[in-house]
Amino acid sequence: MAGLNIKVAKFGGSSLADAGQFRKVKRIVEADPARRYIVPSAPGKRSREDEKVTDLLYCCYEEARHHRNYSGTLHKIKRRYQEIIEDLGLVLSLEAEFQKIERAFLENAGSEYAASRGEYLNGMILADYLGYQFVDAAGIVRFSKEGKFEDERTNFFLRDRLAGIERAVIPGFYGSDDAGNIHTFSRGGSDVTGAIVARAVHADLYENWTDVPGFLLTDPQIVEHPKKIDVMTYGELRELSYRGASVLHEEAVFPVRREGISIHIRNTNHPEETGTLICSRVKPEDMVPITGIAGKKHFTAISIAKNRMNAQAGFCKNLLEAFEENDITFEHLPSGIDTISVILPQEEYERKEERIMSSLQRRLRPDKIEVDDDMALVTVVGKGMRSVSGIAARFFTALGQAEVNIKMIDMGSNEVNCTIGVSNQDFEAAVRALYDALA
Ligand code: ASP
Repeated sequence: MAGLNIKVAKFGGSSLADAGQFRKVKRIVEADPARRYIVPSAPGKRSREDEKVTDLLYCCYEEARHHRNYSGTLHKIKRRYQEIIEDLGLVLSLEAEFQKIERAFLENAGSEYAASRGEYLNGMILADYLGYQFVDAAGIVRFSKEGKFEDERTNFFLRDRLAGIERAVIPGFYGSDDAGNIHTFSRGGSDVTGAIVARAVHADLYENWTDVPGFLLTDPQIVEHPKKIDVMTYGELRELSYRGASVLHEEAVFPVRREGISIHIRNTNHPEETGTLICSRVKPEDMVPITGIAGKKHFTAISIAKNRMNAQAGFCKNLLEAFEENDITFEHLPSGIDTISVILPQEEYERKEERIMSSLQRRLRPDKIEVDDDMALVTVVGKGMRSVSGIAARFFTALGQAEVNIKMIDMGSNEVNCTIGVSNQDFEAAVRALYDALA
């Protein structure tokens, strides 16, 4: 994808975990002059046993807040940055920054402020190393005082701030409210910052550099060495992320999708690999019937039976209101003529069981309610399913041969997905059977 004008490149924590990784990042950035806006995470793990700087910051802040000895943790954090600065031979001191941070910790500046310092300091180092301008995300990435991200205001401020800046490093993960208080996205949120910067500068491409080859067709903890997904649509990405595939933060798709900016997942450790491209439309020649298989365990199905339910106007409305009044969102709503089931996370059900049951009894007067709390959901995602016959037959044959009992089937109306409910203990067998039959 050379020859494009503006690329936003976000680098994850493991891509910036030490000086060696910083060097790889610099090589990548310099290989393409279009990589003008860079969004870093905080330093991640250098090995399996290592600690992420963000986790150290949360921990250090809690220690300071509870008047425990925090100097050991603070020292560890300082060392992480100092080692990077020294190994890269930079003339940069973070001493004054650390004094400010320590003071703020003692004044209870909040855990979001604490966590945000990971990206802030890493951004300063990266900007210095690349020779790019450092642009603090506070003041331009905007949140309400309750901590809700404000997309339109952010777009306005970001566009304005970056307009005259040719090359900048903007730290990921945080922003601020009108009073200047720092707020963060949820964990992994630098992906979201990358996407909002891409939208603001009208990027031609949003590159998300990480430590994996791209999206895999299914979970490598269940299937050994699954194939990589080369290309998929935003819709397929949404389905897969929602169902548990976790390469990219779930919220990162929205800002770029609305502008039609593609997301390219790349591997910092293997920049020669092609990664996964996520875009609005997949060319017919690149279309495959199945894009991915994802899933999660621990759901509950509540099945409600009532004779002639189908003829009773407003039955579904009453059902949905029973969930709304308990502030519950659900996953699926498969229905028959006299029965309807609601599938929701088991943990949510258990927390609100009595309230849900009393709302359902009161609003629906059902003949019977049955609860099955042993359900896992496996979703097969693929826009290409629509145009290939016999795919569903292949699913069910594969599951039958693996002796997996199917408890529920829900086919998305756009045929981007088909979700199958199985018991928790059959979950892995179902994923393997589907992968072997379809991939
Ligand atoms: N550093 C933050 C985290 O560990 C945000 C990010 O890496 O995207 O969650």
